[in-house]
Order: sequence, then C-alpha cells, then structure tokens
Amino acid sequence: MPRRAYITTSIPYVNAAPHVGHALEFVQADIIRRFRELSGDEVFLLTGTDENSLKNVRAAELLKITTQELCDRNSKLFRDLVDGINLKYDVFFRSSDKKSHFAGAQRLWELCDQAGDIYKKEYSGLYCVGCEAFYTEGELEDGLCPEHKTRPELVHEENYFFKLSKYEKRLLKLIESGEFEIIPKGRRNEILNLVKGGLEDISISRSVSRSKGWGVPVPGDPEQIMYVWIDALSSYINGIGFGTDEKNFKKWWPADLHVIGKGISRFHTIYWPAILLSAGLDLPRRVFVHGYLTVGGEKMSKSNPKTAVSPLDVLKKYKADELRYYMIRDAPSFEDGDFSLVALKDRTNKELLGDLGNLVSRVLTIAEKSKLRSYTGKNVLGGDLDLGRIEKHFSAMELHEALEDVMGLVRGCNRYINEVEPWKLSGKQLEEALYNLLESIRIIGILLYPFVPDTSKRICKKLGCEMGNLQDCKFRDSFKGSIEKGEHLFKKVE
Ligand SMILES: [Zn+2]
Repeated sequence: MPRRAYITTSIPYVNAAPHVGHALEFVQADIIRRFRELSGDEVFLLTGTDENSLKNVRAAELLKITTQELCDRNSKLFRDLVDGINLKYDVFFRSSDKKSHFAGAQRLWELCDQAGDIYKKEYSGLYCVGCEAFYTEGELEDGLCPEHKTRPELVHEENYFFKLSKYEKRLLKLIESGEFEIIPKGRRNEILNLVKGGLEDISISRSVSRSKGWGVPVPGDPEQIMYVWIDALSSYINGIGFGTDEKNFKKWWPADLHVIGKGISRFHTIYWPAILLSAGLDLPRRVFVHGYLTVGGEKMSKSNPKTAVSPLDVLKKYKADELRYYMIRDAPSFEDGDFSLVALKDRTNKELLGDLGNLVSRVLTIAEKSKLRSYTGKNVLGGDLDLGRIEKHFSAMELHEALEDVMGLVRGCNRYINEVEPWKLSGKQLEEALYNLLESIRIIGILLYPFVPDTSKRICKKLGCEMGNLQDCKFRDSFKGSIEKGEHLFKKVE
C-alpha cells in the first residue's frame, strides 16, 4: 500500500438538501482517511458538490431563483454537513468553479478528442432527468428508470459522443486482474457482467438551449455544453490541479480510493476509467461501493415524508461522534443499512455512554484515588487485541468489523472490572489492575480516532497521553500519564 493516499467522496448533486445517505458516505470516507493517518500515511481528501446539471436549472426555475443562487444555497448545506459530521477534507470542490473546474474539464475533453474518441451524431434516446443519464430499453424496469421509478423522456438532438465501446476489452482486463479494484466482490461481478454484455458509446454533450447555457462549454463548439461525464467526473482530478497545477496533480493522482454509492457504480467503474484511459491518465486504484440506507425500514424517497430525516437536524441533538458511531455500527459497509432515531438513541446510551463512557469514568475515578503516577504489572488484557486483524478489516473496507474489534476490547475491559473488582483491591494488586485497564483505555483511545475523533482526543487528554499512532497500540511495560478524570464523555440522550 502506498504511503501517500488521495481519497474522494462522491460529488453529490446539489438539487436537493443532503440526506442521511450522504452523511454515511462522508463518515465512511473520513474513517478510511483517519485510519490511513494513524498508519502514518500522508492523505489528501476531496469532497464537494456537482453543480452543472440540468436538474439544478429545473429546480431553480421552480423556486424562481437563479441557478447559481440555488447551487450556492444547497452547496452550503453539504458543506455544513461535512463540517458538522467532522469530515476532515483538504478541498471542498464545487464544479461551478470556473477557474479550477472548467479549465480541467476542457483539458480532459481535448485529450479524449485528440485520442480520436469523441464524435458528433444525431441522437435520440431515453433520458432520466433524475439520473441525468440515457437508458437503453433493456436497462429500464417496466419502462421506468430503475433508480427513480419515473418514465424517461425521449430526447432528440445532435450531441458529441465518447467511444466507450472501444474500451470494453481493456476495462475487462483491468477489472479482472484487480489492477483497477472494485470493492466488494459482488459489485465487481455486476460491473464485469455489464462490460461483458457490451458497451455502447455515451453522449457527452447537450445543446446550449436544452442546458440553458448552464455548465462547461465544449471546447471549440459554442452550440454545445458538456453533459455530466467529462464534466462531473473530472472534478476528481481538477480538484487536485489537473489543467491548472500540474505539480500538485502529479503529487496526488492516481487516487487511491473513490468512495461511492451503488447507484453510481456504473459511471465510476466503467465511464470514468474509460475516459481516463482515453486521455492517457492513470486509473484510480480502488473504488469502494457502499450500500444505501433505508429510513425506519423504508426506502428513502422525496415523496415519503417518513424518510425525510435531515442529518443536519439530527446533529442539533446528537454529537458528530454519536451519529458517526451509530452509522458505522448499523450500516455494514457493503449492504444496505437502516437509519432510525430509536436505534441511534439506543446505541448512544447503551454503547457510547454505557460501555465506553462508563469504563473510562470508572477506571479514572479509581486511578485518581490511587494517587499513583506510574503503573506496572502483568499484561492480562493486551492479548484480546489483534491489530493485524483490524488493519485487514480496514484494507478490505470492513469498517463495521474494525469498530466491532475495538468495542470488543471495551467490553473485555468491563468484564475484567467486574471480575477483579478493583475498588476492593489495594497495593500491588490494585496497581496491576489499573495498569491493564489504563493501557487498554490508552489503546482504545487511539484506535477510536478514525471512528469518533473528538472522543478519542478527549480520552487521550484525560489520560495525559499523546494521541500516537498504530505503533503505539501495543501494551507497554508500564502506563505513565497524568490522569484527569474531568467530565463524563457522554450524556444520556432522552
Ligand atoms: Zn433516474
């Protein structure tokens, strides 16, 4: 694994406010980022918003505001969410940014054009405004968009096309060999089947009139505006300087990882690598496709108010760490998960307050009373921790499994407390119990950093220890620190 990693979230459309599914993706990407940092790697993370879509033009028309106003307003909601949920990003990239984005998108277009992969033709096709995608009859379900369950429009116009079909064989080879890795395997197989089924060329522009002039102009053709693919997908390279800052681009590209939802896997694992191959650029190493969230057991949809939970509202009542913890616990990386406020409250009260918060509070109370400054003893708890397994879970994107391992250590400490009852001990026996518990809590504090970074920092502070990295997650011969119990880590949520 390279020691330098460029990680991206997807770049969501801003035609509506963010939902809990976006929050999940931001949390997942952030956890992966912070774990790489714990491992000592240098990381750059890009997130942002995709703003050049026809959907925005239509949404703005309905609200009787300009498209830019709509984008500014909705992009800010996404920025509030990434900040609110504590996503550590290096750039929040907006594709309406003419200076950095338009130049890069046009450069990418020109490279594909120079490779002979762009041509113009009369086109009519079935177009879903929601997806901003053309569908073939075969891809529809009962004549409806599989994603939106709406009937696509029949659109006729002259467009530029990208020769996707030309890249079928190369893509197959790259995916099959794992050189371009799609995680998990189930998604990889779906994509392989799609490629084996044959690829059709894709429309990559639309008329200025249909797009109402909103978007990136096609180089050398004032009548056409770029349509989604080269525009939106190039955000991932433009955000690190493609077309404007070659030095920075070379430093970070290729991406180590794109984190995306299953609804856009075809675009990220077929269209995007094909465009990059055409332009002669390296492919990202891995794409992690996560599942979707249902809300209270029901599929999220704009027409169902029961599923319209705003993560920004949730963050008014819950700390970022509480929402982050809950999401990873209840949404396995690869399958669909369910979001429910009842379960969020339950996880917070039972596990964060009950298991983790009480462990730290009980142990530090006894340690403060003991007035010891240094603790040594026989290591009896350290054997429960398998760091190699946690690292393996991370490289396989099994984030919930990695968290389960850390929480297993928390539960192990609580069992140990109940067995040895340290409040009844004194002298060498007390010191040994505290040595084991404090060393465990120190390590738990570090390992929780990717998942609940604020809590992690607070634990280290209470122990008077440096945050450290993965190398520090082994039992030392003695625990040294200046303990300050302070406030409880969590409060009960009513
Ligand atoms: Zn659709």
